[in-house]
Amino acid sequence: MAAPLDKTLAYRVPAALAPAIRVGVRVRVPLGRRQATGYLLAVQEGKDDGLKEIAEILDREPLFSQELAAFYLRAADYYLYPPGEAVRTALPAGLSGRGTDVAVLRERIYLPLEQEGQPAGGRQREILDYVRRQGRATLTGIRGQFPSPYAPLARLVALGFVREDEAEKVRDPFLAAPVPADVPVEPSSDQAEALEAIEGALEAGGFAPFLLHGVTGSGKTEVYLRAIARAVALDRTALVLVPEIALTPQLVGRFRARFRDGGPVIAVLHSGLSDGERYDAWRAIARGEVSIVIGARSALFAPLANLGIIVVDEEHEASYKQGEGFRYNARDLALMRAQMSQATIVLGSATPAVTTCHRALEGQMGYLRLTGRVSERSLPAVELVDMRGEALTGALSSSLASALEGNLEKGEQSLLLLNRRGFSPYLLCADCGATFRCPNCEITLTYHQGARQLRCHYCDYHLTPPDLCPSCRGGAILPEGTGTERLEEELRGLFPQARIARMDRDTMGRKGAHGQLVSRMEAGEVDILVGTQMVAKGLDFPGVTLVGVVNADSTLNFPDFRCAERTFSLLTQVAGRAGRGEKAGRVLIQTYSPEHYALACAANHDYGDFFEQEIGFRQELGYPPFGYLANLVLAGNEAGKVQSAADTLALALSEMAGPVEVLGPAPCPLSRLRGKTRVQILLKSPQRPPLRRLLHRLAVMRHKVGAGVLLSIDVDPLDML
Ligand code: ADP
Ligand code: ZN
Repeated sequence: MAAPLDKTLAYRVPAALAPAIRVGVRVRVPLGRRQATGYLLAVQEGKDDGLKEIAEILDREPLFSQELAAFYLRAADYYLYPPGEAVRTALPAGLSGRGTDVAVLRERIYLPLEQEGQPAGGRQREILDYVRRQGRATLTGIRGQFPSPYAPLARLVALGFVREDEAEKVRDPFLAAPVPADVPVEPSSDQAEALEAIEGALEAGGFAPFLLHGVTGSGKTEVYLRAIARAVALDRTALVLVPEIALTPQLVGRFRARFRDGGPVIAVLHSGLSDGERYDAWRAIARGEVSIVIGARSALFAPLANLGIIVVDEEHEASYKQGEGFRYNARDLALMRAQMSQATIVLGSATPAVTTCHRALEGQMGYLRLTGRVSERSLPAVELVDMRGEALTGALSSSLASALEGNLEKGEQSLLLLNRRGFSPYLLCADCGATFRCPNCEITLTYHQGARQLRCHYCDYHLTPPDLCPSCRGGAILPEGTGTERLEEELRGLFPQARIARMDRDTMGRKGAHGQLVSRMEAGEVDILVGTQMVAKGLDFPGVTLVGVVNADSTLNFPDFRCAERTFSLLTQVAGRAGRGEKAGRVLIQTYSPEHYALACAANHDYGDFFEQEIGFRQELGYPPFGYLANLVLAGNEAGKVQSAADTLALALSEMAGPVEVLGPAPCPLSRLRGKTRVQILLKSPQRPPLRRLLHRLAVMRHKVGAGVLLSIDVDPLDML
């Protein structure tokens, strides 16, 4: 049911609809006094006393199988999310209305007939050869090969050589993009060993989880490609999850290069697809026409049958976790799906999540290591720049500035990471110290100079900064701190001849902007690329030999127990961007806390040492993997109501908590967001079962938290802002 109900509902199938009823279709059913759209999750024989009737079936073909229905339900249960809403989240957008509200494109196709021999005309013969070779040729494809083919085609049909038909056209813009050349490589001994384990598991069948741990450039993608080729050869399908598909054009290109026309069919689910395109792709997958699905988080729910292998690339990435609504983690659900489908699953990372690595070390999954980079390319030398003694005029230390200058002189590319967009994080009145805050979220507004605006990065509230300070009427309002926009300006001042580009959410908004900038980088048309963590992800620029991190402390000082892990992984990732080509790379990290283990270990490329220190800290405090968490957030317009609802709930929970710790209620770190007051209660348990029991009892009372207060449950939270 696409309604926020905690349970599934049963309806009677009227005799007239019985022949068409199948799991996976949408139905119209009466619900109270209205009608609602529901998803058919199971069909059972039995007594139908008092059941209401299904009014209408909305789909001709099922949108998902029985097996997937079971998966969706288990996922909803795990995250305590209403099953109907969970299924709605899983299905492609644009399905909410009645019937197929998305137009299906049709195109003309030509199929060869049995008729022997050749037609007389030379053009007819060429086209016939082409159709026979293809087995099934689209008109678009024929027109791509032969100019004005209509007359010869009509002749071929009339002579009985080919038959004309219509087929559903799969709209995929990725098909229009040029495919790079595939580079055949001989697997290294590490790769061969990893492949032997994965392919062995594929051939044996059954659930088999692996962690594939190797630095960027160690050849993980090559392992995915070969493992998937094996799965496809065994007649099974493959699902590839990446953190953000728009930012990984190079990876998609490599898949398309390896599995070319005539090979297994690839569907790429990305955020650039229109609802219609997404729906087309979904149904092509459901019909079994697709062998490989590549996509971000939500591709996890794709209706692939006969799943052989799931790859989760960069499994540690926080973007696998949905932050609102159905707060699932695609990596964790991928493990659940692989288990239910008896499939192989490979979690790949240069910096595995501490929890994942712990599991692998405990023997709960195979641990495959790729040591070092392929073809003996060395890892870049990383230096920490201690900012405590620096006399700064801008954001750059003298060592980073001179390294940039040196690189410019050599004509080599540099990349700078600053995890903060905008010009400066806030405006400050130099006379009275007043700052500007968002009235909805109580955080400082970021100054964007290009747009001349103060903006809230949470709710998008914005205003034009006044010339005079609203508090003291003084005229000394100054930008404080540095964002990417200001860093770009500073660089232009320092290096007027350099070609500088910026990559962040403000400059990459336009469709195609990201791809264009990537191409310019690849073509060597940019000397210095400045950006937020976008520049650290998934890109491979062989020309980059210098990487600078402007402020490594920004992630380290987050109020979150995972901040060390995040910092280590971001620094390692961005450092991996240096020296991926022929020349060696160099990395400079500016920091006020060079002695922190997250920084020191990143500088030494030492994941093992980082893991040792971090796991000790987790164990001491009972954090994952030594404890299980759920975060309850209560939000509402009236602070008093929210607080008293939270107090009541915390008390009720404590009474039935058993071994589960009930922490709080306490204000969320973002205590006001989009005009709502937010209070949280954190549940922490040394084992999972008691926490699950408590959560199930909580789900039952969820609706009783009080009028005007909304409770959301976040199981295995990743960020607790
Ligand atoms: P990762 O996914 O770990 O970052 P890739 O699979 O992208 O690593 O490999 C990095 C580079 O090395 C790519 O350009 C790839 O084509 C190349 N490569 C991978 N495996 C080999 C190999 N066995 N021999 C030579 N080159 C390889
Ligand atoms: Zn705001």
